[in-house]
Amino acid sequence: MRLPATLAVHAGQYHDPITGAVGTPVFQTTTFRFTEEAYAAIAGQTARQVPLYTRYGNPSQWAVQEKLAALEGAESALVFSSGMAAISSTLLALASPGGHIVSAQDVYGGTFTLLNELHRYGLSVSWADPADPASVEAAIRPGTRVLFFESLSNPLLKLAALPQLAAIARRHGLLLVIDNTFLSPFSLRPLELGADVVVHSASKYLNGHSDVIAGAAAGPKALMDQVWRELIRLGGSLDPHACFLLERGMKTLAVRMRTHNAQALALAAWLETQPQVRRVFYPGLPSHPQHALAADLLPGGAGGVVAFELAGGKEAALRLLDLVQIPQPATSLGGVESLISLPFNTSHAPLPPEAQEAVGIRPGLVRLSVGIEALEDLQADLAQALQGLPEAAGAVSLRG
Ligand SMILES: *Cc1c(COP(=O)(O)O)cnc(C)c1O
Repeated sequence: MRLPATLAVHAGQYHDPITGAVGTPVFQTTTFRFTEEAYAAIAGQTARQVPLYTRYGNPSQWAVQEKLAALEGAESALVFSSGMAAISSTLLALASPGGHIVSAQDVYGGTFTLLNELHRYGLSVSWADPADPASVEAAIRPGTRVLFFESLSNPLLKLAALPQLAAIARRHGLLLVIDNTFLSPFSLRPLELGADVVVHSASKYLNGHSDVIAGAAAGPKALMDQVWRELIRLGGSLDPHACFLLERGMKTLAVRMRTHNAQALALAAWLETQPQVRRVFYPGLPSHPQHALAADLLPGGAGGVVAFELAGGKEAALRLLDLVQIPQPATSLGGVESLISLPFNTSHAPLPPEAQEAVGIRPGLVRLSVGIEALEDLQADLAQALQGLPEAAGAVSLRG
């Protein structure tokens, strides 16, 4: 087995028989001339791997899919027009008809909205805490088909207890689906730990340059064939040009993730020593409640996102966003550029303040997606921003 850095560069590469092109050509076409193979595929409804029509499949998609399958250690993979297309197609394919899903209330906001609406598609959902396997087992019912959790949660960076969740799924004959967006296959390969299917917002670390919206799923071929049929029904196929950009981005996954992981750890440790910071959330720090599990599951690094709570609360957090010069105040994560945002007025804005408190989101909480800029520059910039904050906690309100 080749190592991730090698797979990221070479796996899935399309070899052009005419020119020997080193890069995968962009097959920017909606359709392909009929062949005997295509007619047979139409008759047998097996057009997934035959060039026929780009919503069904395209060599630009297959190149990225093979690269992702190699990185996640999967038999098969699919790409989608967004992370939400990957998640909706996967859940509808694997839990229908009429199934029950166990998930977590602190999943990505778009996923939470989808899960809350799944009753319109005849599916039901219950909530549990993936860091507490007993709560997951307690939520299982006779009709349960799927356990759906994120490997690392947003923004408090709680780790799913993967080996235990996989054991529960096996014991009850369920499928364990893991959203691995926050870690990427460089840091964690959920299939190796017993998950059945992995999904991604490829808009984040997989692409890595904040310039493509895409999604992905990976797992055994039989399950991916099932998800593929849902993908072509719902229509969330990824455009060939976006595939080209995603494949190009994925080639540098290992070098980017090494830097994201190392810089996030260094900044998290440094932030913990700053008087303006009340608390830092990062699984790579000994202060994280699941540090032992993180050391076990994430030996290569705990990801590039760091959350921290400012002693000065909401006013200090809003002021910090004005004072930082390198991290851009914007949503999303996983790009080469650092991004900074406040969960209280972005990802968790729909929740009233008491509900935010209840899930551990205090108004002074800041989420930093650590980019690959020079660590010294990032630290100096954060230092000047922290020094510019008002002295005492909650002293003066700068925003009226
Ligand atoms: C961004 C994100 C999604 C949604 O992906 P899109 O590409 O925006 O559709 C799903 N899960 C997680 C964990 C995310 O961060």
